[in-house]
Amino acid sequence: MKSVFEKIIDNEIPSFKVYEDDNFIAILDVQPKQLGHTLLIPKKKNENILEEDALIRANMAEISNKIAKQLMKNLNATGVKFVSNVGKSAGQEVFHTHLHIIPYYDSEIEPVANEEILKKIKGN
Ligand code: AMP
Repeated sequence: MKSVFEKIIDNEIPSFKVYEDDNFIAILDVQPKQLGHTLLIPKKKNENILEEDALIRANMAEISNKIAKQLMKNLNATGVKFVSNVGKSAGQEVFHTHLHIIPYYDSEIEPVANEEILKKIKGN
């Protein structure tokens, strides 16, 4: 059975795409912890980040660094958190590797529609 992220990758369910290349997709989280909460997802499904090979992990580090800088610059975030949950006990709900990239702010931010957040992230 396809994971929810495979369905997003295959364009079977909609998403707000922050980034895409041949091997990865990054989307806005549907239940954001903070404005701009993004998920970086390898297109080839493995259960969690411990199952990923060194090249995928290195690429995830590189891409997530760029996305985090972009979120901080374009959303005026002052901090960022990287989290990858492994296992149900650690809070993993979707068993397809993903890295949460969560920007943080000095002051409380009013909720904004995903379309608007995406425009800001992309610098429009
Ligand atoms: P985790 O608990 O680490 O497995 O995180 C899974 C994340 O995927 C949660 O933060 C969910 O809100 C998010 N999520 C689940 N379904 C979707 C979806 N269709 N589009 C975007 N994010 C999703």
